[in-house]
Order: sequence, then C-alpha cells, then structure tokens
Amino acid sequence: MPREAAKLGAMQAWRGAILWFDPHTDEPHVHFEPDSWLVTAADADGVQRVVAVGPADALRAAYPDAAVTDCRGCLIAPGFIDLHIHYPQTDVIGSPADGLLPWLERYTFPHEARFADADHAAEVARFFVDELLRHGVTTALAFATSHPVSVDALLIEAGARGLRCIAGKVLQDRHSPDGVRDETERSLADTEALIARWHGRGRLGYAITPRFAPSCSDAQMRGAGELAGRYPDVWVQSHVAENVDEVRWVRELYPHDRSYLAVYERFGLLRPRAVYAHGIYLDDADRALLAQTGAAIAVSPTSNLFLGSGFFDYAAARAGSVRHGLASDVGGGMSFNPFVTMRAAYTVSRATVRGDGQPKVGLSLSAVDLWWQHTAGAARALGLDGVIGSLAPGSEADFVVLDAQAIPLLARRTAQAASLAEWLFAWVMLADERVVRQVIVAGTPVQTHHFTDASGALHVGSVS
Ligand SMILES: [Zn+2]
Repeated sequence: MPREAAKLGAMQAWRGAILWFDPHTDEPHVHFEPDSWLVTAADADGVQRVVAVGPADALRAAYPDAAVTDCRGCLIAPGFIDLHIHYPQTDVIGSPADGLLPWLERYTFPHEARFADADHAAEVARFFVDELLRHGVTTALAFATSHPVSVDALLIEAGARGLRCIAGKVLQDRHSPDGVRDETERSLADTEALIARWHGRGRLGYAITPRFAPSCSDAQMRGAGELAGRYPDVWVQSHVAENVDEVRWVRELYPHDRSYLAVYERFGLLRPRAVYAHGIYLDDADRALLAQTGAAIAVSPTSNLFLGSGFFDYAAARAGSVRHGLASDVGGGMSFNPFVTMRAAYTVSRATVRGDGQPKVGLSLSAVDLWWQHTAGAARALGLDGVIGSLAPGSEADFVVLDAQAIPLLARRTAQAASLAEWLFAWVMLADERVVRQVIVAGTPVQTHHFTDASGALHVGSVS
C-alpha cells in the first residue's frame, strides 16, 4: 500500500484491458495490459485520482478492499482531449463552402451573433457538452464567441458535469461583421474579468482568445499579449497559417512581420500554454520559434480536409520538435469523434505533398502515436501533462471504457490482430462513438447511454 493511503477516500478498481501513455515525454511511451486494474480514490482535497495501475493479480492483493467494476472484454483508456473546438459552431457543422473565409462569412459569423443571448448560449452549451461526453472527450480547449455570456454558458455547463474545460471570449475588433465584432478596450476588460471569474475554478480554465491576426487590431493584439504576460498560467488560443488566402491576407495586413506566426510573437502571444490551430503553412524558422517558445499546434485534420485547407506536415513538425496534439475543430471539422480525427490524421500524415504543393516524404503514423496525440500528447501541449491524458498514478481519474463488440466489423478485425500495434490500428481505423460504453469524469461515471454488463474475454491475438 502506498504510504499516503490512509489519507485517501474509498478505493475503486476498474478491471479490463488498459492502455495508457507516460505523461511527460515528447513521444509516445505506451503501456498495455490485457487484464489490468485501475485503482482510483479521492485525495485529501477530494480530487479523484489514479492510485495505481497494473496487472489484476498483483493489484487485487495490494487493494483487497477496493470496490471492483468488471469491464473485462473492454478497453480502458484515458479520456480524449480535444485541443481546439468551437462550441458555438455546433450548429454549423457540415456546412459546405469554398474555403475558410467564405465559410466564416456565410455560416459562422451569423450563427455566432446569436450567442449574445444567454439562453441560446446555454442551450447550445448543454448539447455541446453532451456531444463531447458521448464521444469520450473529457477535456476541451474551446472557443466561445465574442460575447462574455457565451463563456459563462459553456463553463457553467462544463462545471456542472465536472468536465475539465478551458474556454475564452473571442477577440475580434476588426474585419468582423456587426453582431460579433467587439470593441477594443471593452474586449480586454471583459477578458480580464472572465479570467478572474473562471480561471482555476475547480477544473475550469481560461484562454485568452484572439480569433486570428486578421480580426484583431494592433491595440487588441497588444492588450492580449499584455494579459498573456500578466497571467502566465492562463492559456492562449488562436489560429495560424490554415489557408493560403488567409496567409496572403495576413501578409498584406502585417507587411513588416517575417511570417504569420511572427505576428503573434511580436505581440507576446507565443509562450507555454499557447495553442494555435492548424499551422499548415509554416517554415523552418516558424517551427524553431514554436519549439523555442513552447507554444503548440492543435492539428485539426478533418477540418483541413473538409475546408480544403491543406496538410499538416508531420515530418517537419517532428524534425523541428514542435509540440502538437489532435483537435476536431468543430464546426470546420466534421466530427466530434476522436477516432474520426485520428483516422484523418493518419491520412494527412501519409500525404506526399506539403500544404504549399511541394513534394515531401509522407509518414505512416502508428495507432499508438495517433492515440497519444489525442491524450497524453495533447495534455503536454496544454502544459497539463501528469494531470490529464494519462492513467499514470497521480493523474486525475478521467477515462473511457470502450467496447469493440459494439461494432461487428471492429470486433471481427480486432479478434484477428497479430500484435498490439495491429489491434490498436484496427480500433483507430474502425471505431466510432458506438464503442463508448462509459465515460468516467473525475472518478465518476457520467455517461451510460448504452452500457451493458461487460462479459467475455478480450480477443487481442498474440499481444505480448
Ligand atoms: Zn478553429
């Protein structure tokens, strides 16, 4: 028994096949046991954490009093982390457009204008949080809209469910239509007030959220950078280098900056806990800047394919030690589902042209790598490694129970896998939300929409 056991609350144990990753590494170090226990308990502050994880026989002896939930036949894994998502765009998902800029103008801005109304924001927030949980997503870094009430609506809803959620009021004081455009001084005062109201409250956090460089005046960017300096543990989220037309526009607006990313650097917006969506049109100097400053990229492959934006260059990002993780970017992305995102990331990693059309060598990312990018890798990009995204002892108890039997083809294919790598690859290629039996947020099951008692052995072939 660990020395601190006396201080812990009642032990719970979850039994099944368990997958997790070391929390503090820049590449995936995977752990997998076909018959394992995950032991959780509340710490002295009442936070439910992982106490131990390991082979069932050894932990049964070490924790004889734990109440056991039998999930044999299922896979237990860390809850997924979505590194970039727009909750107000829930209702524009699947809207066709020629590209990013027309899509923003035609669908996104008119919908976002409705979030000045607190009741509308609350209704969408409820549906949005349900969708996250239905898909096994237990942490989201989310854009709200420019209206402060939209942040309140989301964080009230996430807080009520115990969900870890980081959100921010969008800053956009220019090149934005009436209804979403904000006013410079007021927008910065609102941001600071929201930081005071929400950041660090329970599992909630705040992100300073310039929409993207074209939508913010110099004064607003400067103000955002000052806040980012004054509140170093508050997150920063924005977009960078998503689309060729957008990159061209930034070059016109900021002719003296070396690159799109350099604009954010000039205003003090590149630092640890800064997460930029997309990062397709970057060069080596940009990647060096990201590595140096500790800012991260939220890779958003379904969105990039849907809007025809381009392909994230995994090989270059890896060579440049750029921190990155996976994101849905709903509603530019067309699915909340982490498996759909992982599949799209695999497809993008195979691409043999760069975003700018030049030839490159495609990678072939493993399932372990893709899964890591949506859990422990994403946690590291957020500066929350060791807190979420892993089942290492000490982690907060956010995890999912997944059942391959929910999908006949997945059950059949995984039963024939010859190795752990092949077994996980079948999951990544074939799973969807039907496999999500339970979602455990801070040690408590929150989602039981199609849970039935687990039974039967897990068919994993010759996993060693
Ligand atoms: Zn986005």
